[in-house]
Amino acid sequence: MATLAAKALKLASFEAENLKGNFMILTLEEKTFLNHSIRDIPDFPKPGIVFKDITTLLSNKEAYSLLMKHLHERYSSYGLTHVAGIDARGFIFGAALAQMLGIGFIPIRKKGKLPYTTVSEKYSLEYGFDEVEIHIDAFSSVEKPKVLLIDDLIATGGTAYAATNLINKVGAQCIEACFILGLDFLDGQSKLKTLTPVYTVIGVE
Ligand code: AMP
Repeated sequence: MATLAAKALKLASFEAENLKGNFMILTLEEKTFLNHSIRDIPDFPKPGIVFKDITTLLSNKEAYSLLMKHLHERYSSYGLTHVAGIDARGFIFGAALAQMLGIGFIPIRKKGKLPYTTVSEKYSLEYGFDEVEIHIDAFSSVEKPKVLLIDDLIATGGTAYAATNLINKVGAQCIEACFILGLDFLDGQSKLKTLTPVYTVIGVE
């Protein structure tokens, strides 16, 4: 009962936030439809992990189109100059959104993939470290770059935190970080929110 009330409250505050900004609001049915278009793969890439497979959303033309229309409507009034996508699934949503908004797309890649001079940021994984990079001149075409960061999913938030730091390091402002899915039980969003506002289309509890 308490969980139901909490869910209703969460939904109400989400909708109020969206009404305030006059964004297109996804109905509960639309969110459920999008959520069901994503496939769960248990024990991938290792035992205990439920991998959220967004390829089934991408191949579903109604789901992909609904999602992109929603993102386009949400972000068309933000005055963005670029969308930055995280390697690799962030490229799919980010590049499509940038094209719809008529602005540039910037890839944030895993170490060693970008050909020109890069700035890099390390972040910790369960075991060891990983590193993401951005081209040093990524946003040099505009005076005051305003960037939306996008990825398919936020789990612990480490990747997105490092990516937001990179955007700041090369002189741009990260206006918001957007994820199709948020694994709410891992609370990766709290730390990221100290750097930038966070929006998740679907929360997984
Ligand atoms: P994190 O840095 O922990 O927030 O992890 C986020 C990155 O790892 C994103 O680029 C996701 O694509 C990927 N990722 C983490 N957990 C999952 C999962 N359960 N299913 C699919 N992708 C995941």
